[in-house]
Amino acid sequence: MQIRKPSRITLRQLVLILSIGSVLAMLVAGMAGAYRIQRDQLMDDTLAANQAFAEKLAASTSDLLKQAQQDLAYSAERVVQSGMDPAVLQSEVDRLRAQGIGFNSVTVTGSRGFVLAVSPSTLNLRGRRVDQTAPRSSPRHLAPAISNPFTSILGNLAILITHPLYTAKDQYLGYLAGTIYLKSDGGLSRLIGQHYFRNDTYVYVVDATRKLLYHPQALRIGTEVVYDNPAINAVLKGQSGAQRITNSQGIDMLAGFAYVPAAQWGIVVQRPTQATLARLDDLMRRALWLSLVPVGLLLALLWFLASWVSRPLGELALIVQDGYEDGMARRIQSVRCWYFEAQRLQRALLAGLGTVGAQLGQLHDEAYLDPLTGLGNRRGLDLALQACQTLGQPFAVIALDIDFFKRINDAYGHDTGDQVIRQVGNWMRTQAREGDTLFRMGGEEFLALLPGARRDVAASMAERLRAGIEHAAILPGETVTVSIGVAAWVPEDATDMTLVLKAADQALYRAKQTGRNRVVQSGGPDETPA
Ligand code: GH3
Ligand code: MG
Ligand code: MG
Repeated sequence: MQIRKPSRITLRQLVLILSIGSVLAMLVAGMAGAYRIQRDQLMDDTLAANQAFAEKLAASTSDLLKQAQQDLAYSAERVVQSGMDPAVLQSEVDRLRAQGIGFNSVTVTGSRGFVLAVSPSTLNLRGRRVDQTAPRSSPRHLAPAISNPFTSILGNLAILITHPLYTAKDQYLGYLAGTIYLKSDGGLSRLIGQHYFRNDTYVYVVDATRKLLYHPQALRIGTEVVYDNPAINAVLKGQSGAQRITNSQGIDMLAGFAYVPAAQWGIVVQRPTQATLARLDDLMRRALWLSLVPVGLLLALLWFLASWVSRPLGELALIVQDGYEDGMARRIQSVRCWYFEAQRLQRALLAGLGTVGAQLGQLHDEAYLDPLTGLGNRRGLDLALQACQTLGQPFAVIALDIDFFKRINDAYGHDTGDQVIRQVGNWMRTQAREGDTLFRMGGEEFLALLPGARRDVAASMAERLRAGIEHAAILPGETVTVSIGVAAWVPEDATDMTLVLKAADQALYRAKQTGRNRVVQSGGPDETPA
């Protein structure tokens, strides 16, 4: 057989570990679940909000571009109607710049590429032929158009919105062009910049060639996005939507995007996922703080319950751990075992220590003994009854009282009376079996506790006792007799076992009433003289 090392861990520790462990596990699982749900909700909300924002910006941008094209178309008509009158040309470009959607400059270019009018005039372009590579100088502005970003001759990154000039007979006269600077305070950045920077959310705009038209980092405007950004890929396919993506810097982003069909641009609104969830982390920290008090109370309650449950077993274990000692039975009995397993264990331990009588035999304590007879006293009886109760053992009691004792006292004196009391006690000793316990209840009254005895067995012992005392020469020239009541208790009775003492007393009273020197059994038809 394998021999186990003695375990140092106690039941209390086990219960505590188990219960506190479950509480903490529940707390963690609950918080994790709540965090998950809140996080998903927050991310979904942010994605939806970013998409809505991107769609709104796309609609506004479309309106802005449409307005710009309408303004140019209107001026083009007036310019053509004037027969390209230089005064009208100048007044139209000035008016467009001042009243339009926020053009940074406006020009009229002739069919051969020479600038005919410019606003602001400080640009000093009039009569010049502009750079061949710039969209402005292309002779082929035959239809209204919005250009890709380009660097103007003044070095400004800009887009160009153009409208051709045709006579009624479809003769091409040149075109009107308005520029919007991307980096300075043009119409586009005014439109988008108004909104941007709400709590880490930012906006950027790309054109069909993936060049940035707008970005909060001004340096990036005009550069191409080489990174394979899923949001840009989707939006340039003409889609609107929302997606969790990783941006070119490897930052996790919640992006909403929308397409601007008029210019084939994509607008992306995004917010770092981290920033979105930062508030949630804070929220969870606060929730954790708030739950500290109830959880603390619960843990305290568990601490108390663990002690309460484990105490009986712990105390029993402490009593028996060093082997047998005097007073052990009494200590075992004094443990409050309030639940089934503990009670059974306590009973088994007491049974292991021997019968009730054997246990009382171990009690040499004067507090439980009667000095005159050396029998147990009333407190000893209480202890013995407790032991019977704990063991759940059936027992019988014999209550005995000397007849006409006053007369003996009166006739022979108190000392002789004491002598008689002692002798009756000795007679009881001679009749007791091993395991029976004897008590003097006070005066000339005695009680015998017979563990495991049925009432009839107790009654025959009582009868032997009565006859023995009657015929013993306790006092020369006197016959000393006793009256006896007998009662028994079995666990099935389920009545309070102190009632059995009362029953024995009543039987004794009947014995006195019916002539003394006799035994009466308690209960029903039996409560008759034996
Ligand atoms: P009964 O047959 O009805 O029992 O009559 P009884 O005279 O024996 O009446 P009871 O039992 O009431 O009397 C008890 C007497 O015992 C009263 C008291 O004087 C006496 N007594 C009580 N304690 C002691 C004691 O310790 N020593 C002596 N010698 N007498 C005691
Ligand atoms: Mg009496
Ligand atoms: Mg008496």
